Amino acid sequence: MNKSDTERILGILSHFDYQKSSEDEADLFIVNTCSIRKLSEDKAYSKLGVWGKLKEKRPDIKIGICGCVAQQEKEVLLKKFPYLDLIFGTHNIYELPELINKIKEGERVCAIRNTAVDEKEFNIIRADGINAWLPIMEGCNNFCTYCIVPYTRGRERSRTLDTVINEAKSIIRQGYKEITLLGQNVDSYGKDLQDKPTFAKLLYELDRLEGDFRIRFTTSYPTDITDEVVEVVKNAKKICECFHIPMQSGNDRILKAMNRRYDRAQYSNIVNKIRDNIKDVTITSDFIAGFPSETEEEFMDTISAIKELGLDYSNTAAYSPRPNTPAGKMVDKFIALDEKKRRLQILNDTVKEASKLSNLNSVGKTYEVLVEKIKMENGMRLAEGRSRNNKVVHFKSDTAQIGDFINVKINEALVWCIKGEEVKTDAPLGVR
Ligand code: SAH
Ligand code: SF4
Repeated sequence: MNKSDTERILGILSHFDYQKSSEDEADLFIVNTCSIRKLSEDKAYSKLGVWGKLKEKRPDIKIGICGCVAQQEKEVLLKKFPYLDLIFGTHNIYELPELINKIKEGERVCAIRNTAVDEKEFNIIRADGINAWLPIMEGCNNFCTYCIVPYTRGRERSRTLDTVINEAKSIIRQGYKEITLLGQNVDSYGKDLQDKPTFAKLLYELDRLEGDFRIRFTTSYPTDITDEVVEVVKNAKKICECFHIPMQSGNDRILKAMNRRYDRAQYSNIVNKIRDNIKDVTITSDFIAGFPSETEEEFMDTISAIKELGLDYSNTAAYSPRPNTPAGKMVDKFIALDEKKRRLQILNDTVKEASKLSNLNSVGKTYEVLVEKIKMENGMRLAEGRSRNNKVVHFKSDTAQIGDFINVKINEALVWCIKGEEVKTDAPLGVR
């Protein structure tokens, strides 16, 4: 979501004669921050420190901070970083033109709101390549006890069906081959809109658009995935067979303490339902190690869940206390840092094994691969891309170009990628 916001910020700035440049030449520096964990927050502050030093040599440069850390810390940052010129929150992006004018006149500005400014028509300067982000909604209403997102991004707000579809059309016209729909809980899409379009409806409409492209989406909240969504993905041509469904913990008491609205059995049923309906589907997840009060036994339930459910890949993190969140206040129940790190290591080892097992399952299958990179290695031309079910695939090819869809028969499984051979065929590729 941050990357997508940055593309919008760059787009807005381009209307005011700014263009991307190196740190040596830039006269405006903005760090777009994430505060999901303390580590990401610290990275942002260290960036500001570097730019502060630069300003001693080049006093004319302007320095700004935006995103979730800005939203959370507000004007406190002006005191903390005396060289800071601009602070704007997650709801203020479309106010940027006015804010830039103010700092140009020498004002120090802190613009934070609790509700979003309406979207306006500006360019979007998307990252190079063939993958495009497309936010379908912002914010979150779930209030998981460890999570800062509802406080920094506010309540759920969906973009209208027409807005999303028109943006998708424009992305396709620009030649992108893969669109990733973004939302904290994509299955909540449309619930706040007047005509209540569902996420299933949005997927259905996007699948009907003309062109050679793929659609992915993230993130799915386990119990909110509807039968209609599963049905649409099953029958669609362009929607990839891949669900990212964060489980967070494999233990029922911890899930409750996290305010996740499902238990292990319900999560397992959802995974089974998706697998029963959608061939070759990949299911990925997120897990937190060392949530306050988590016992060793409860942590081991997470490890057993990954194995039992055969999850293909998972993002992992040690629990990081976040300001204002209920879990962040359970100070007497915090797990020691060393112990969190130990658990995280076990978790990572388990994810690694699970990924290898999942990749081994691919051997012998033929996948449609969208080529993302070409590189030369030992005199050989290698193509790298991703299968519809989101596996990284490497194969030799003298002809493949970035953006091509190519059928590849898999013959080797490594931990984080699979390898195969191009299948020459005149038949239509994959199930696209
Ligand atoms: N909306 C998504 C998750 C968004 S945040 C969902 O509900 O599934 C991305 C991931 O960051 C979460 O899934 C969680 O695993 C992790 N995360 C969030 N807050 C965290 C914290 N305080 N400490 C460690 N990990 C955290
Ligand atoms: Fe955070 Fe929970 Fe919302 Fe995901 S669903 S963004 S983890 S509060």
